[in-house]
Amino acid sequence: MLAVEGLVKMFGGFSAISNVSFRVGKGEILGLIGPNGSGKSTTFNCIAGLYVPTRGRISFEGHDITGKPANAICHAGIGRTFQIPRPFHKLTVLENVALAAWFGQNRTVNREQCWRQAAEALELVGLPTTPETTTEGMGAAALKKLELARALASQPKLLLADESLNGLDPSEMNQAADMLEMIRRERGITIVWVEHIMGVLMRVVDRVVVLDHGEVIYDGDPHGAQSNSAVIEVYLGR
Ligand code: ADP
Ligand code: MG
Repeated sequence: MLAVEGLVKMFGGFSAISNVSFRVGKGEILGLIGPNGSGKSTTFNCIAGLYVPTRGRISFEGHDITGKPANAICHAGIGRTFQIPRPFHKLTVLENVALAAWFGQNRTVNREQCWRQAAEALELVGLPTTPETTTEGMGAAALKKLELARALASQPKLLLADESLNGLDPSEMNQAADMLEMIRRERGITIVWVEHIMGVLMRVVDRVVVLDHGEVIYDGDPHGAQSNSAVIEVYLGR
């Protein structure tokens, strides 16, 4: 479904990612892991069209999407969540998600469909669908769910989820992992899940790609990663 080949992103003279290649199969949950600063978000930003890659090629469903703008990539069917949720606090929860449905599908749906898709996305993540609910007083876990609902409202085929566990307690982390698994099961959405910690993620991913200093150091099954010496060195050796 997605192929990333020889991706390089430089900021001035600094390579944030220097050679990243991996593939994502339809229906897969892929874990993209690596310590802080290893290039996970930069990789996401290149795929989602926030950054233009310095070199390399990204294709989605057989089409070259390298360097295309974020709106075009969203309309092609790639949705993403951001590491730090930034909803519009002046809008209600339902309006935030309906807006994502509207712009995320290039306004090809009518208003009624937007409200319905927004309510469906909120239901899926377990947030209230009542029109009067505001973002006021929402905790970290609820804001993550809202972020996820906004991404889902654009009806993606591929979901890029960035650091969904940041700021959550252990039981909320497990719920977040279960939720991504449920989204794949219920909606058939392919998922790339970025995380800097390994634990909870390993339970639900089919495969992991491990980044270190902007390069892929492991691509394979999750169990193999936990016994791979290069991966252990990155996680425990420093
Ligand atoms: P991760 O998400 O794995 O923590 P990032 O992709 O955010 O890592 O960052 C990878 C490296 O690139 C880091 O050293 C970071 O400081 C650098 N970097 C990321 N974005 C920028 C930017 N916009 N300008 C300069 N350096 C950046
Ligand atoms: Mg990051």
